[in-house]
Parts: sequence; C-alpha cells; structure tokens
Amino acid sequence: MASQPISILITGANRGLGLEMVEQILQASQPVKQLFACCRDPDGPQAEALRTLAKKHADVVSIVRLDASDLRSIRRATQRVGAALPPGGLNLLINNAAVLPRGGLQTTSPEDMQSALHTNVLGPANIIKEFLPLLRAAVRAGGRAGMSCRQAAVVNISAFLGSFPSIEETYDFLPAISYRMSKAALNMLTLCASTELKRDGILVAALHPGWVRTDMGTQEADIDARESVEGMLDVVFSLNEKDTGTFLNYKGKVIGW
Ligand code: NDP
Repeated sequence: MASQPISILITGANRGLGLEMVEQILQASQPVKQLFACCRDPDGPQAEALRTLAKKHADVVSIVRLDASDLRSIRRATQRVGAALPPGGLNLLINNAAVLPRGGLQTTSPEDMQSALHTNVLGPANIIKEFLPLLRAAVRAGGRAGMSCRQAAVVNISAFLGSFPSIEETYDFLPAISYRMSKAALNMLTLCASTELKRDGILVAALHPGWVRTDMGTQEADIDARESVEGMLDVVFSLNEKDTGTFLNYKGKVIGW
C-alpha cells in the first residue's frame, strides 16, 4: 500500500468490486488524502452502502455523480473533483464501471452493443482525457523520478474475456460479444494511453479481477470480491514504470492480450 497519502478516484463505486475497493482502501493502514467514489446515481437505492461508508469517513470520501456513458456527466465530475482536490492533483484513477450484455453475434441488440461500447470503452477514454490535467498536476507535485500510483496512474479494470486467447476456452460458456469487443478495445486504449502518457510520467495498466462473485460475475464465480480486491490493490500499489502498458490479473500475472 502507498507510503504517503494519495488521492484516488474510482468509477462504479456503489456496488460490486468498486464498493469493495472503497472499503478496503479505507481499512488499509496507509492514509488516503481524498477518495472520490463515483457512481451514476448517488441518491438512489443502489448507492445506500456507499452513502453509509461516506458518512463514516466524511473527511476522506466524497461521492461524485459520474455516468461513464455521458461526456457531460464526466465533465461535471471533473470540475467537481478539481475544485475539491487538495493541492497535489489526482494520483490514481481507476476505471472500474462497466456493463455486461451477455448475447452472442446473433442475439445482441444494437442497444446492448452501444451500451457496452459507450460505458466500457468511450467512458474510460473520455474519463482519462478529461482528468488528465489533474493527473499531470500530481506528477508535478510529486516531483519524483519513476512511475507509480503514488505519483500518477490510470488503472483500467478489464477482463480476461476481452483477450484473444480466452475465446477457445470461454466463448461457448459466455458469448458476451459486445462485452468482449469493449474490453479488447479497452486493452488497446490502455496500450495507446500508456504510450502517449509515458512522457508525462503517468502509468497506465489494465487489470483482470478474476471471475468474481458480484452482480456481474454471478454467484457461480470462482472467488469473492474481498479476495479479488485484496489482490488487485496489492498489484496496483506495487506497479512501477516497467508495468506501464501491461495487462495483469489480480495476482500480478501477465495476461496475453
Ligand atoms: P457489477 O455489475 O457488480 O458493478 C458494475 C458497476 O459499474 C456498478 O457500480 C454500476 O453502477 C457501474 N456502472 C455501470 N454502468 C455505468 C455507467 N454508465 N456509469 C457509471 N457507472 C456504471 O460489476 P463488477 O463489480 O463485477 O465489475 C467491476 C469491473 O470488473 C467491471 O469493469 C467488470 O467488467 C470487471 N470484471 C468483473 C468480473 C467479475 O467476475 N465480476 C470479471 C472480469 C472483469 P449502477 O449500480 O449504477 O449500475
């Protein structure tokens, strides 16, 4: 975990892996300066657990409305976070929000296709772009050599289903063609962004959380959210410049694109 207080933003933080990340980051012994827990409906019933957490840790947690599929919403969130951030910028941006339409080529509606691409690819791309000035501010304030989430980093939560080697093993079980396409594109976004932002000193990596028991992963999955997030946070907080542009699982193992 980080050795100095850092500022973190997580999308889709109201349930599943995003909420578990907020919980574990708050429990960790290392201090967090500011944690922006983003969700698309902060006042709705799906955000109740997050509201309770935020109330308990009001000095650190701010709930921010952010719909990843809506550029105007992303821009409003950027303004709000920019105004609330302490000097030092945004150290760690975690693009976690996603949707999983399950159909194959012949059963996926155009609406599901659009929803997966808007939320899972265009969302993270727009979010990285809009939050870039705050990430750059963190690099300037950090003034250290090397790359890490203590300085400035983007972590895109991707999925093994988006990797080419996964097809043979998993397609019959779960076609999810729009989701696979979106995560494959998110992986390419990770590579492009890591290449482009290297000169800014901003690390960009993709993570696969494992197959996890959440609403998305279903109760049939291999592991629980606690195990996945413990692993992912260990990986995130140990990333350095050699990891920029890589795709790792929650145990830190490299996954083929
Ligand atoms: P969940 O379905 O449990 O949670 C998804 C989260 O994304 C919710 O907070 C949801 O908010 C949010 N979200 C969906 N659409 C939007 C949007 N347009 N704007 C903002 N937030 C949105 O999924 P998980 O927690 O399991 O998944 C988290 C990440 O991990 C995803 O990127 C997923 O692809 C990835 N992953 C998960 C695996 C698993 O087995 N669970 C396996 C591989 C990858 P709301 O409540 O408003 O719907």
